[in-house]
Amino acid sequence: MKAIVFERNGGPEVLQYKDVPVPTPGPNDVLIQVKASACNFNDIWARRGLPGMQIILPHISGSDAAGIVVETGSEVRNVKVGDEVIVHCGISCRQCDYCTRGEEFFCRDFKIWGFQTGPLDGAHGEYCKVPAANILPKPKNLSFEEAATMPLVLVTVWRMLVTRAQIRAGDFVLIWGAAGGLGVMAIQVARLYNANVIAVASSDDKLELCHQLGANYVLNRKKQDVFAEVRKITAGKRADIVFEHTGADTWPISMQCLKWGGTIVTCGATSGFDAQMDIRLLWNKQQNYLGSHLGNKGELVDAMRFVESGQIRPVVGEILPLKQMTRAHDLIENGKIAGKIAIVPNSA
Ligand code: NDP
Repeated sequence: MKAIVFERNGGPEVLQYKDVPVPTPGPNDVLIQVKASACNFNDIWARRGLPGMQIILPHISGSDAAGIVVETGSEVRNVKVGDEVIVHCGISCRQCDYCTRGEEFFCRDFKIWGFQTGPLDGAHGEYCKVPAANILPKPKNLSFEEAATMPLVLVTVWRMLVTRAQIRAGDFVLIWGAAGGLGVMAIQVARLYNANVIAVASSDDKLELCHQLGANYVLNRKKQDVFAEVRKITAGKRADIVFEHTGADTWPISMQCLKWGGTIVTCGATSGFDAQMDIRLLWNKQQNYLGSHLGNKGELVDAMRFVESGQIRPVVGEILPLKQMTRAHDLIENGKIAGKIAIVPNSA
């Protein structure tokens, strides 16, 4: 089958479109013909290489897939050949104390599929194999392209806002990168909870998208002083929740923008890991700084109900053929895309 493979870390030039064997499913796995996958920011991290984290080489990235089951392992009961499916990308043992408590991300064997797995084991090929436990039915109201761009960002946002930050009606929620993959979901989840969304992005086009998705206020971080605007919008009280994933560049502003007793929830650091903070704010203002990582399958199932009802919709900014993965990386790495990129193999 054709796949996008890299054999060493580096720039986009390490991505090769080449032939690799079709994966062989184990007894508890399913083999999926990939109709569409997504390009996520973790594909960029994997390609670049991350200090302190092993990227198994040769590597096929891709943590989201939508497709058709073409083979099932001998022990698989929950899925059958011909089913249209999507994938939850949290791989874990499903037996330990953490897994059975719904805390699969604390499992000693936890890995994000297509990011930490391998060799040659992600969605950026014509076929992929995953444990049957990680399969969910594709929502009938979505195309394969739409469905492929949803699970990773949706489960991450749901855990960040609903489980961790415990969003409530009326909250002011400041969302960085609001037209990005996480951002477009964060706007919709926050609006689902009747929160007041303050969306931040770097261009007026992106802000128009945020507005269409329901953002109550939009801020262009290139032209406006985000802190001053948040104070104005909230009559000086500042945000109840700051949705962070942008890291070093925005962290000090996120702290400024947070109200006394408010919550910053973060899952990433696109602009850098070494953020500055004045820890006096933690106790003086009794603020909450929460980390969040992916989410469990149950959280994804909870969130998907609102996709099936049409209250949350995928935002596909671009559909690209598999062989143009370099372009997908360029668009994401340089902030040139609003919403998500769906990737379509030739055979789809
Ligand atoms: P995208 O590339 O789709 O969007 C990121 C957005 O961040 C861009 O739209 C850009 O918006 C904004 N941004 C980038 N640099 C800066 C900056 N210096 N200052 C302010 N805003 C900036 O990525 P995702 O939304 O999919 O992911 C975002 C981050 O979250 C990544 O680092 C990713 O690895 C991480 N992540 C972590 C997960 C986890 O489970 N731990 C899961 C999913 C993602 P604009 O320039 O318009 O302001």
